[in-house]
Amino acid sequence: MITQKSDILEKVLNKIEELWDDEVAFLQKIGSYPSTLGNEAALQNFIASYFTEEMQLQTDKFVPDVKRISRLPGYSPVEWSYAGRPVVVGQWKTNGPKIGKSLILQGHIDVVSPEPVSLWNYNPWGSTIVGDRMYGRGLQDMKSGTSAMIFAVKAIKEAGIELGADVLLQTVIEEECTGNGALAALDRGYVADGALIPEPFGPTALKAQVGVIWVRVRVTGLGAHVERADRAVNAIEKAYILINALGEYRKYINSRPKHPAFKDINHPLNVNVGKIHAGDWPSNVPAECVFEARIGFYPDQDPQQIKDEVKAWLLEAAKEDEWLHEVEPEITFYGFHAEGVSLDEDMEIFDALKNAHKTTTGEELQYFVSTCTTDIRFYNLYYGIPATCYGPVGGSMHGADEWVNLPSVKAVTKTYAAFILDWCGIRN
Ligand SMILES: [Zn+2]
Repeated sequence: MITQKSDILEKVLNKIEELWDDEVAFLQKIGSYPSTLGNEAALQNFIASYFTEEMQLQTDKFVPDVKRISRLPGYSPVEWSYAGRPVVVGQWKTNGPKIGKSLILQGHIDVVSPEPVSLWNYNPWGSTIVGDRMYGRGLQDMKSGTSAMIFAVKAIKEAGIELGADVLLQTVIEEECTGNGALAALDRGYVADGALIPEPFGPTALKAQVGVIWVRVRVTGLGAHVERADRAVNAIEKAYILINALGEYRKYINSRPKHPAFKDINHPLNVNVGKIHAGDWPSNVPAECVFEARIGFYPDQDPQQIKDEVKAWLLEAAKEDEWLHEVEPEITFYGFHAEGVSLDEDMEIFDALKNAHKTTTGEELQYFVSTCTTDIRFYNLYYGIPATCYGPVGGSMHGADEWVNLPSVKAVTKTYAAFILDWCGIRN
């Protein structure tokens, strides 16, 4: 008897229902690891052994080699080490000649800081369930999606189905600052015919995202310049001149013609001052003020040109102040050197995702345009691998009381399973 494709899907969807308590427990478990920058190892070790022992995947755990990846397009410069901060890849190799398309399912396990923790009503690492929600740092962005992709594969495997092409489950680091984890996995040879990243933008297909750079501005006040000791110069007050200039820059870049993919977005390009450090005593004049900002730009713009433009803009503003004209601010760049992405709606991966979404939800798939960056840029721009995002929904991403909607995690698990069966093919 030939088993119908729909029967196989039915079997897998039932398996997802059967495994749901395990999936929730898995999400609670990975949500309990405070996997901020530099603290990813414990969670990666847990996931690597889960891949090996629970799922019998061929598992690789490796540390990004900065010497190698720093030569690659898309690399973002870092000021820290990768020692003890692995990327994990679990491969489910197809058993025989390839009859479908191979697939990368990738999730980042790095999360942003939960500070200030005093604003939270829940323990950021407590994975507290209240009704349909689970609260905790990183549960929306993006441990929920990571759990969904892992359990989609687990359900297919446990339903006894053999796929027609390889599936690679990857948990990467540094999506929130560089994307170098994703880049390192590609450079190590982990490529495929397509990639899905369950970022929590909801059950939509990501078709465009902005580019992002980070800038650091160091403003020197009087203290470091004793030759001008006759006049006190407050570095915080001088920094404000440049922070205001960045505000003007934001207005300027949003007044320029929009990239077509962003035509319906009201304010596509954000400039955010996210860090500031200066002074240590109310009665002292601070000698130095350092602030850092994140700047968005369009897919057809070169990150290096944006860096040059931002630097020139700030130095121009500095010229108008007597002190800053003489004691120029130091403007440097680190972290995100991320190009924007704009994808063609005709890509095969979108068709496959449309079908999977329709099969599991009965609804038409909508496209999504993002004003932030994701790791899809590496696959699409530098490795010729069509890649998009589709994921669960939640709230307070990067804020206090971040949460994910659990039914949406189950729905995404099902869509991923339907997608995998269709994309990779089924070996009878
Ligand atoms: Zn994310």
